Amino acid sequence: MQKIVSFSKRRGFIFPSSGIYGGFSSCYDFGPLGVEMRKNIKDAWWNSMTKGKDDIVGIDASILMSPKVWEASGHLTAGFTDELVECKKCHHRFRKDFVKDKCPDCGGSFTKSKKFNLMMKTFIGPVEDSASISYLRAETCQGIYVNFKNVMQSMRKKVPFGIAQIGKAFRNEINPKDFIFRTREFEQMEMQWFCSSKDADKLFDYWLKKRLSWYYDLGINKKNLRTYEVPEKELAHYARRAVDIEYKFPFGWKEIEGIHNRGDWDLSNHSKHSGDDLKYEGFYPYVIETSAGVDRNMFAFLTEAYQEIKGGRRKDANKEVEIVLNVDRRLAPVKVAVLPLVKNSPKLIKKAKQIYNLLKTNMVCFYDESGSIGRRYRRLDEIGCVSAITIDFKSLEDDSVTVRDRDTMKQKRIKINKLLDFLNV
Ligand code: ATP
Repeated sequence: MQKIVSFSKRRGFIFPSSGIYGGFSSCYDFGPLGVEMRKNIKDAWWNSMTKGKDDIVGIDASILMSPKVWEASGHLTAGFTDELVECKKCHHRFRKDFVKDKCPDCGGSFTKSKKFNLMMKTFIGPVEDSASISYLRAETCQGIYVNFKNVMQSMRKKVPFGIAQIGKAFRNEINPKDFIFRTREFEQMEMQWFCSSKDADKLFDYWLKKRLSWYYDLGINKKNLRTYEVPEKELAHYARRAVDIEYKFPFGWKEIEGIHNRGDWDLSNHSKHSGDDLKYEGFYPYVIETSAGVDRNMFAFLTEAYQEIKGGRRKDANKEVEIVLNVDRRLAPVKVAVLPLVKNSPKLIKKAKQIYNLLKTNMVCFYDESGSIGRRYRRLDEIGCVSAITIDFKSLEDDSVTVRDRDTMKQKRIKINKLLDFLNV
């Protein structure tokens, strides 16, 4: 894990937040490559949910919502809590299910556990009194439920249909940990499928299968994913059934996505509390939810793709450890790089810049003229750049270049006017 943390910082994927002030516990900033990769993950998810689909539409609800939403959803009342214990000796606090009977920091014994609500509280407006209390949303889906009728009516949808959303969520986690795995601010990709109660079980299985194949398709090895049927006594207050999709992280099997049958909990409670009837043709639709974390996804895709090869892939040429980020091309933060063979030939540089200008408006593209060509290839392999284009003296004569593939390291000679097609733009 330490390797991925330092790699992420060194190559501009993930930085500790407020680093020049010593960091800020459990908060992270995404650097230039991190932001591209996150965007690619979100695009892949959004496309798989909404592109070419008549029955799923998107929304983007606000993070701040009426506190009444959280009363109705049960987050303030029913049980959006974790059990907290405090060490009697060093007074460090822990989530009860994360520790055994002794404090991991000093060996002291714990106080009795108490319930700790995870909602992040804030105040709206200039007066900090109870009337101005608000909450940062703890899950994005509530914005979907309260807009169920708006979406259905404005888009003339009929149940069954789905609403997709990507956005930030906040939880006052007692023990944020494991890099970007558990943080207090994170991003979710959620889809809520509204259906009749009789179809709910079948659709649960359908969406679980669909979501698993999305991960496989983007390069997660089958042996690194598994499902965990959440036992009834551990189900969240709203859930009738829950299956976690777990990834084999360096620190063990952990959830990256949850598939939930939320029954009619949300729509019936919002109806009751708001007085607005959210029934569809006389019944409250059931909700099957797919809820994935962007951050946990990114961590999983990085872990899956990060490879260290002792002595390098060409054993003879290089004695160092070579790093290759073997990430699916759709998720790769940089798609192509343009490399003039040498930097002291104005003609080569001019040609290379022409090609760079042609490509850079179509895809994320790097230009690099410094260092030996082998070193440049290695720097690009590290960040998962899919193709590297080298412009050599022959290019000046025949308008062709070599295109090297990150994974096979094979090179192909391609005419410049065929480049965009070849790179599959
Ligand atoms: P956990 O049991 O790990 O606390 P959860 O079961 O509470 O997670 P859900 O409420 O099902 O999580 O949230 C759906 C998804 O949102 C999770 O699968 C995860 O990817 C993401 N997520 C939830 N909490 C966090 C967090 N604190 N940091 C990062 N991602 C999170």
